[in-house]
Amino acid sequence: MTARPRRRSAAAAANGIRKCTRCGADFTHHYPTVKLCMTCWVMREHSFEKLVELEKEIATYKATIAALAKEVVDMEDELVALRKSAPAIPPKIEKMLLQLCHPDKHGGAQAAHKATIWLLGQRR
Ligand SMILES: [Zn+2]
Repeated sequence: MTARPRRRSAAAAANGIRKCTRCGADFTHHYPTVKLCMTCWVMREHSFEKLVELEKEIATYKATIAALAKEVVDMEDELVALRKSAPAIPPKIEKMLLQLCHPDKHGGAQAAHKATIWLLGQRR
């Protein structure tokens, strides 16, 4: 099957005038294979460059997101490890609590004795 020639007026064809396949505007060009007017050609080229630019930008963002996601996972692992190794009660607070509830400061009260034993049992 052969391509059917486009209809053009005899006068337009004689002057080298063509219709842009995108916008339909009349234009002239010295290459017979050019199908787009200058405006549409520039728009297409610009769109393509913009597309390539956006694809590169998206790839960069995806790589950044992947790196940040890995960093978050590593930080969460580090946090879990630190929580396991950290004392339940910060040492300075524990010292203050033991001084405050020690049975010697409460006349040997049973409650002070139990509280002190419980506090000492919280050590890791
Ligand atoms: Zn055009």
